[in-house]
Amino acid sequence: VVLNAQPLVDRTGARIGAVGSSYDITALREREADLAAFAGVAAHDLRAPLMVIAGYTALLEEDLEDGADPESMHPTVARIGAGVRRMQQLIDDLLAYATARDARISLQHVDLQEVVADIVTERTLHLHVADGGGPPPEITVGPLPVIDADASMIRQVFDNLIGNALKYTRPGEPARIDIAASHPDGDPATIRITIADRGIGIPAEEQPHVFDQFHRVAAHTKSYHGTGLGLAICKRVLQRHDGTIRAADNPGGGTCMIIEMPYAGRPLPAPVTV
Ligand code: ADP
Repeated sequence: VVLNAQPLVDRTGARIGAVGSSYDITALREREADLAAFAGVAAHDLRAPLMVIAGYTALLEEDLEDGADPESMHPTVARIGAGVRRMQQLIDDLLAYATARDARISLQHVDLQEVVADIVTERTLHLHVADGGGPPPEITVGPLPVIDADASMIRQVFDNLIGNALKYTRPGEPARIDIAASHPDGDPATIRITIADRGIGIPAEEQPHVFDQFHRVAAHTKSYHGTGLGLAICKRVLQRHDGTIRAADNPGGGTCMIIEMPYAGRPLPAPVTV
């Protein structure tokens, strides 16, 4: 605790009292420690692909000096490209993470059905080009409502979540994703949106932690690339919208991400039960 005492004097300079202020710097110190830890991890994660790029660039230079066949250099160039893309992704995520905290949010009507359909189209086109045509994902969307949200931030949330649902699948298995909306406990003032996948799942004890910055499930890091910031961005964006996000098991196997946020629109029709 820091104490600040200022003497109070009258016009003649005689001391007539003192005003004091004190504030708790523990919170400040904690914030500084958080920031240092954050910068450390960010620097480490940027450094790793940079070392790869530096190493393979040196190799290319040697090959060029030796007059090696350009064909033989393709794998080296590809590794440099992959390193560059990982750095780009991390820088994009770091910027999005900062924006999610600091940027002003401007609420507007956002047609979630349109946004999500758009992301699905974009992401699956991408997948097909990259994979040379693996099993196509099976995705059902909605119907989803119009919500009040910051359009670009909420788009980022669904892009991250759909990206994860497509990514964390077993090799060779198509992604199966269901995105749906409802009112939790029939409360028309809250909207719940679920993104359920049939992928590799998140162990129950990890579920509360995957929203922490840079937290990745250890068992996933070997086979799946990532920055560990996507869900931290989602959590921040939802907080800014007075909403929440959590992870649960999908009863059919896999993960179910559950978003809840305030809703002022027309109540959704009750689900039909048969
Ligand atoms: P990353 O860039 O590693 O994907 P995220 O913040 O998006 O970072 O996710 C954090 C971690 O949570 C991931 O590394 C992964 O282990 C786990 N995860 C997130 N979404 C899913 C999912 N749909 N299925 C299985 N695991 C997931």
